[in-house]
Formats: sequence, structure tokens, C-alpha cells
Amino acid sequence: MASRSHRLRQDDKRYVWHPFTQMQDWLQERHPIIERGEGSTLIDVDGRPYLDGVSSLWVTVHGHRNATIDRAIRIQLGKIAHTTFLGLSHPLAIDLARALVRVAPKGLAKVFYSDNGSTAVEIALKMAFQYWQQRGGAFSRKRRFIALEEAYHGDTLGAVSVGGIDLFHQLYRPLLFPIQRIPSPYRAPWDRSRRVGPLKGLESLLKRSSDQVAGVIMEPLMQGAAGMLPSPPGFLKAVRSLCSQYNVLLILDEVATGFGRTGTMFACEQEGVTPDLLCLAKGLTGGYLPMAATLATQQIFDGFCAPYGEKKSFFHGHSYTANPLACAAALANLQCFQRDQTLTRLQPKIALLRRELQSLRSLSHVGDIRQVGFMVGIELMHDTIQGTPYPYEAKIGIRTILEARRRGLIVRPLGNVIVLMPPLSISRRDIVRMVRIVGDSIRAATE
Ligand SMILES: *Cc1c(COP(=O)(O)O)cnc(C)c1O
Repeated sequence: MASRSHRLRQDDKRYVWHPFTQMQDWLQERHPIIERGEGSTLIDVDGRPYLDGVSSLWVTVHGHRNATIDRAIRIQLGKIAHTTFLGLSHPLAIDLARALVRVAPKGLAKVFYSDNGSTAVEIALKMAFQYWQQRGGAFSRKRRFIALEEAYHGDTLGAVSVGGIDLFHQLYRPLLFPIQRIPSPYRAPWDRSRRVGPLKGLESLLKRSSDQVAGVIMEPLMQGAAGMLPSPPGFLKAVRSLCSQYNVLLILDEVATGFGRTGTMFACEQEGVTPDLLCLAKGLTGGYLPMAATLATQQIFDGFCAPYGEKKSFFHGHSYTANPLACAAALANLQCFQRDQTLTRLQPKIALLRRELQSLRSLSHVGDIRQVGFMVGIELMHDTIQGTPYPYEAKIGIRTILEARRRGLIVRPLGNVIVLMPPLSISRRDIVRMVRIVGDSIRAATE
């Protein structure tokens, strides 16, 4: 066993390039190689168990090796692994589309499948753009998008164009299309800390140039990759009314917030908002297989229905669009929500998590704790009174999560923010254990 794990570690360093990773550091370090999982636990090739505190990067919903999802995939595997969705259809994709329209906010009528969160966003942007082009006349001037500062919508170039995290996106600016930006509602709450708050900024942009704006894109309730930045209550609803008032489309990116993470199936439900386009991915298959969906209103769909010769088709698709194994996983995941009453049983766990997190507030380097449902960001600061951040080179987030790993917990930092996003199925005992380990790890890394 020891020699096998040694060989794997060597080959990983020899052949693999990891995402969002400084490989010079990686080559010096020793990382777990995960071989198995069970519920909220990951087990590495050496047999060491770890609590999965980030749902394997925000995807796992009902746990690893979930019997219902395992079985659904196995049944589909006994029929066919893949068949194209271009010019053909298949039963599970049809059933899943119906199920998604049923759980989605009222008004979303059509489901367009793809493979990951970035493609779900690309598709929404292209649909919005093409919709206005096809409306024609003065509408064809509606070509621009408005996005939030510190937004994250994925890593392909369209998604990066609307992204606003300098560390990830700045370098690529010469390759990107120009967009208009409003402040992040967390950093500039309403009109207080800036002369122009995000809503005022949006309103004046729309007043000036809504005839050139195709849509507004945002992550509802919580900007995830920005370091878990919640928006104040009412913000989303206000954006929705401005979009309606000025006739621009609202695109909601619920890739991270969807499927229960904020305490409701979709975050936008909490403000009674229906977007014109809704992007879903991460939790869609319960964390099993890469799949995404972009949901559209009937009105947008109708804008693409025309005589063949008018060339109004949506010319977009991927080799693995609506992969049947992924559809099986997604349908089983939705069944689990219903059968296990996941969202009802989640509410006391959200409250428990909130109570447990209180214990971290007294730590001398915890500057801020932000929580929406099961999405948590713990911001570490060099000086919490002055609000001085740790310098980038201090790698304080990375040092903290390595301490957590030693204590049997897998988490990921976003800069100086420790992110917690456990599977919705996590036990109460594991919630308590997770927060306790995070506290010990922060202490070990900062004191
Ligand atoms: C993760 C994420 C994406 C990108 O999804 P991928 O599947 O990684 O391409 C897009 N938007 C948000 C809000 C995300 O959190």
C-alpha cells in the first residue's frame, strides 16, 4: 500500500497540472490522494479519513456514495452511457427538464443543457445577446452587459469578461469584451460607504444607456468566489425591478447558490424573484457528474423560434450535452430532496452552524464571519481592529487549511477567507466537529 501511494504521488508530480494551483509549491508538498468516499467523509489512498468541509468544491449535496444516486447511474449504465442531444432526445433528459421547470421559480419554461457552470453562463450571455439581435430594430443596439465588482462566473473567456476578481481576471483583460460594472453590494452597502451605491449606480447606468444594455448578470444573495460576500436583504429584488423597468434581461448565476446551499432550493426564491435566465451547475447532479443547465423564459425561447431560413437557431452545443448518466444522477438528486425532505431538515442544521460559528468570533485574527445558509466565509485579518489584511505572501488561508487537513478536515481558502460549505446531508455531530477543527486550525496558523 505504502509503495502504491508513493508511486501515485510521484506520478502526480511528474504528469499532472492542477487547477488554481501554484505548481512550484505543489511539487514541494505532500497532498492527500482521495480514493473513496462515504457520506461526508473522504478517504485517501493511505486509508486516512477526512471530513469534506467544502462539498468537493461546492458540488456534493446528499453525500458521497449516496445509494439512490449510485443506483440511478448504474441503471442508466445498463442501458446506454451516452447518446447525442443534437437531433435526438432521450427519456431522462426530458424527465429532468420537466422536473427542473417544476422546482425552478415560476416563469422559467425551457431547459438548455451543458457541462459546467462556465458554459451555463456562456450560454446565458449568448442567449441574451442573440435575443436582442433577433428582436431587431433599435433593440439590436442592446449589446452590453452589466456585472458586479468581485463577481465570479467561471473561467472561460465570456465568463471571465463578466467576472470581477482582479487576481483571477485582470491579466486577461485584453482578450475580453468590455462590460459595465457596479460595486459589490457587500463592500459598498447601499449608499453608505460610497457616494454611489450599487443600486444608484445601476439605476443611473440604465437611465443613461439601457437602450444599449442586453442584461445584468449577478450571483444572488452571496458572491461566492469573491470570498463569500452576502448582499443586503432586498438588493436582488431591487435589481429585478430595475431590470424590468428598463427592459433589460436579468441573468442569475445560481451555479454555487442553487440546490439548497442558501437554505432554499434556489437563492432567488428568498426575494420572490424570477430571472429571465437562470444558470445552474455544481449541485445539479448532487456532486456526481459534470452537468449544467441554463433555464430561460418562454419569451426568450420564442425569440429563437422562426422559419429555418431566418437563421435564428441557437447555434451552440457540446459533445456531451445532456449526458444520460449525468441526467440520471440529477434526477436522483432531485428525488432525494423530496424523499429526504432535505430543505426542511437543513433549517436546524443552519441554525446549529450559526451557533457554532459564534465560538470563532473571539479568536484574535477572525475579522468577519459571513453566512448565508450553508455557505460560510471566515475572513482572517492581521489586525481585526484596524481591519488590516494579511499580505498575500503570508499564505494565511493556505496555512490554515493545511492545519485543518492535519486534523482530518478538508477545506479550501479563498485568499484570506476560509470557506465552509459542507454537504447538506452532513450530520449535526460533524458540523460541530468541523467548526471545532477550523477554530483549532486558525489558532495554530495565526498564533
Ligand atoms: C463555480 C462557479 C462557476 C463556474 O462553474 P464551473 O463548473 O467551475 O465552470 C460559475 N459561477 C459561479 C457562481 C460559481 O461558483
